[in-house]
Amino acid sequence: MSGHAPPGLGEPEFFAHSHAAAPVPTAPEAQRLHLHGVLLPGGEQTDLWVADGLVRTEPVPGAVTVCRDAWILPGLVDAHCHVGLGSQGPVADEVAEAQALADRDAGTLLIRDAGSPVDTHWIDAREDLPRIIRAGRHIARPRRYIRHYAEEVEPEELIAEVARQARRGDGWVKLVGDWIDRDAGDLAPLWPSDVAAAAIAKAHELGARVTAHCFGEESVHELVRAGIDGIEHGTGLDASTIALMAQRQVALVPTLVNLENFPAFADAGEEKFPAYAAHMRALHARRFATISAAVEAGVPVYAGTDAGGTISHGLIGTEITMLAALGGADFALGSASWRAREWLGAPPLADGAGADLVVYAADPRRDPSVTRHPELVILRGRVVHPSRPA
Ligand SMILES: [Zn+2]
Repeated sequence: MSGHAPPGLGEPEFFAHSHAAAPVPTAPEAQRLHLHGVLLPGGEQTDLWVADGLVRTEPVPGAVTVCRDAWILPGLVDAHCHVGLGSQGPVADEVAEAQALADRDAGTLLIRDAGSPVDTHWIDAREDLPRIIRAGRHIARPRRYIRHYAEEVEPEELIAEVARQARRGDGWVKLVGDWIDRDAGDLAPLWPSDVAAAAIAKAHELGARVTAHCFGEESVHELVRAGIDGIEHGTGLDASTIALMAQRQVALVPTLVNLENFPAFADAGEEKFPAYAAHMRALHARRFATISAAVEAGVPVYAGTDAGGTISHGLIGTEITMLAALGGADFALGSASWRAREWLGAPPLADGAGADLVVYAADPRRDPSVTRHPELVILRGRVVHPSRPA
């Protein structure tokens, strides 16, 4: 947890409420399941049962065995995802539903939504869709971010807007920390650092944590020192800011899937903004060294795909595979499962916990890319993928 972590989100009540709000699943296969396999992170051969949406460690009479000699993980987390956001901004509920289903079928059962222009609270009433922890709407400045994505305010309105979004979300607020400044022709911070610090303090007062989109060097340097709780992307991190993040346990969600798009962003800006294009290419060229340095320093790193906007949903397995190349399979799996769940306040897998599980046919510690194709996804005690158990 961050040194600034306030109460509110991150407490088990969030999960207790979301479970209690919904009825127990009624499909017959939801009721009583038996799973056998290696349970991670512990790695021991385990039998687990599921009844009434909950994990049981003692046999449940009449349970149907849905897997044997499999690998079982607590449900995956996509810690940077946007449900309800398309390339042109807000999308219809049907599209948001399809986005959430794509994430779910990839094994993502808990989403930290890093900013959405639509209200997706209706999803909370849907037993068949992932749980979502929202950051309200992105906060940016006029002409300083992608059109139709963000609530756009000038710095003097930032504190009030942070307070609004803190009330709108589920314990997180999302700032756009930097973006191209068309006058400067390069990436530049959106917020004076004293204003950002006051806005972060306001969020903490209201029980919310703050995270920010940061591509370049300046914004991440300033916002970490301003007391922020999380950094998204983080390609501009240097050694001193990495050390400070490790010390304060400020979270980093690098979104490696999205960083692959930097050369395309550079190409698109090349003609009008050559300095920006060169900057993006330089950040891209050293991205693995930058993120590896953060991992090695002990910064808490989590898996996020940045789905929504232009990136497809359901890519958590690809993000895990890329993170594994940087920090090893155990690190990558934890960053998308048990470590991320603990960070966001989801209860650990134990007798009586909500049955959100993902099952693989091969050992993801040996080959993390198996996470791209889950064998079974169990949400709230119900097999949701494949739609008929094999
Ligand atoms: Zn994003």
